[in-house]
Amino acid sequence: MPAGPYTVGMMQKTQAVRAMVQRLESLQRAGVTHLGKVPQVEPAATPAIEPARDQPQSDVQTAALAAVARDVAACTRCAELARTRKHTVFGAGSPHARLVFVGEAPGVDEDRQGEPFIGRAGKLLTDIIEKGMKLRRKDVYIMNILRCRPPGNRNPLPAEAANCREFLDRQLAVIQPEFICCLGAVAAQNLLETTAPIGRLRGRFHDYRGIKVLCTYHPAYLLRNPAAKKPTWDDIKLLMAEMGG
Ligand code: SF4
Repeated sequence: MPAGPYTVGMMQKTQAVRAMVQRLESLQRAGVTHLGKVPQVEPAATPAIEPARDQPQSDVQTAALAAVARDVAACTRCAELARTRKHTVFGAGSPHARLVFVGEAPGVDEDRQGEPFIGRAGKLLTDIIEKGMKLRRKDVYIMNILRCRPPGNRNPLPAEAANCREFLDRQLAVIQPEFICCLGAVAAQNLLETTAPIGRLRGRFHDYRGIKVLCTYHPAYLLRNPAAKKPTWDDIKLLMAEMGG
């Protein structure tokens, strides 16, 4: 197990992650491969998956995320998005990240490659993480409110965001981060269920199910409005201080 901040709290995640894996296995045994409202399935009397004692915890979380990714790949809840997407964009990064970045939705490049935050905005986000925060991109986790690209890069519809919320929550339930950084108004407003503008949401912490949430500007906005880099850096410094960095 590597030393460093990303191992902090990992042991505390063990029971919750194992319970989630067991529940996913229960769902699979019940023939549920595409989840609408998640049916309540009683945990098996005997755990379906009992990780080996020496199995790295990250393997358990990787398996749990893979199960969610399979459901996302098969998802057709948003008919237009499912019809027009090239790939679903599930998320990327460490399955035991302390920090999860949440953006809006895949763009054309992300849709083509199935990866979140690539292209110019992705490069700027990588710079914020690696040059600004002195973290490695692979040690945080990056995902979006939507896992499919809205045609023409339009904003997600409320119904689409609601459809995809279950996947976001399931990913968070596996990762169990301490912090979320919302990138841009769409991510912040959807996650926090508010209509407040990003200018009022940024610069302070919010709560989402016990996770500390900081909102800041989207990297694509920073590319168009360089003057917003200064307040964004102020937000990132606030986040770093809270993370103990
Ligand atoms: S955006 Fe989310 S809910 Fe909608 S089709 Fe894609 S994976 Fe399913």
